[in-house]
Amino acid sequence: MEIEKLVIIGSGPAAYTAAIYAARANLNPIMFEGFMSGPIGGQLMTTTDVENFPGFPNGIIGPKLMENMKNQAMKFQTRCLIEDVKSVNFDQKPYLIQGTKTKVLTHSVIIATGANAKRLKIKGANDNEFWQKGVTACAICDGAAPIFRDKQLFVIGGGDSAVEEAVFLTKYASKVFIVHRRDEFRASKIMAKRAIDHPKIEILYNSEIIEILGDNIVKQVLIINNKSNKKKSFEAGGVFFAIGHTPNISFLNNQLELEDNNYIKVKKGTTQTLKEGVFAAGDVQDHIYRQAITAAGTGCMAALEAERYLTNLGI
Ligand code: NAP
Repeated sequence: MEIEKLVIIGSGPAAYTAAIYAARANLNPIMFEGFMSGPIGGQLMTTTDVENFPGFPNGIIGPKLMENMKNQAMKFQTRCLIEDVKSVNFDQKPYLIQGTKTKVLTHSVIIATGANAKRLKIKGANDNEFWQKGVTACAICDGAAPIFRDKQLFVIGGGDSAVEEAVFLTKYASKVFIVHRRDEFRASKIMAKRAIDHPKIEILYNSEIIEILGDNIVKQVLIINNKSNKKKSFEAGGVFFAIGHTPNISFLNNQLELEDNNYIKVKKGTTQTLKEGVFAAGDVQDHIYRQAITAAGTGCMAALEAERYLTNLGI
């Protein structure tokens, strides 16, 4: 069985950027793009306008951006497999990557499987309802869209992300409500204070959105106080989930060291995991920035680091 130089696992901005750089460096990468594990192309496949990716002054829709990246990766002969990786074996060398159909031996690996924003199954928030029609899971990506301007916006969560996103949304909203299920923030004290003191933010403690209503877009939310059981309707232009992300690592079967929050641990300032020749790029290792452009940046880093690793081995 031929031993590959590089396998890339994943298919978002990190994975395609890694593929473009690796393929242009003659590493002839094989890419497992996924199949059942989530949309090929990653989280941007479920967004509409992307207005903050440099190079597109008029914005670009998420799926088109990913199609462009994939075409660019394939132009340089990246071999794309539409299948999930079921398991890996990093205890042997060369490393073994087992897809649902294809088995590959490889000298190096870039993991770029991303993370999924957690969502709640609230009535009205699902894919065939108001998801991406006023309901999203990324205020930084979507908050500047015209549909949210001068509207009452609702952020669900009580962590640092919820506060950060709520403060970000005050730039566009008439008012921002943070809807938190408990009576105290999980966010750090300093972040929580930022929300509490903000004149455009109101915090609804012990509260849960139980229904999102509208016509073509979100118009209203129904909120229950989980202590008093009282329900109240609010006029609404948008609902933003900020209840955390889940990195896609189940196929690794505990073979890489992780951070406490289950993101893949990398050496500071690099994409090198604690297993040599295995690199991690994009949201599967980044719980702080989580942007398409930062994912693409670490995808580039991973490919350059993989190339250097292989060169040092004389491969
Ligand atoms: P997080 O800290 O895990 O907070 C998630 C929040 O969502 C919690 O308040 C939690 O409620 C709520 N939540 C979870 N499941 C829920 C459910 N089913 N229904 C309703 N609410 C639910 O996640 P995060 O805010 O995304 O932060 C992730 C990490 O990134 C943290 O380490 C954070 O400090 C860091 N971060 C830092 C910054 C910054 O420093 N600028 C910004 C963003 C994120 P409970 O509190 O009741 O559990």
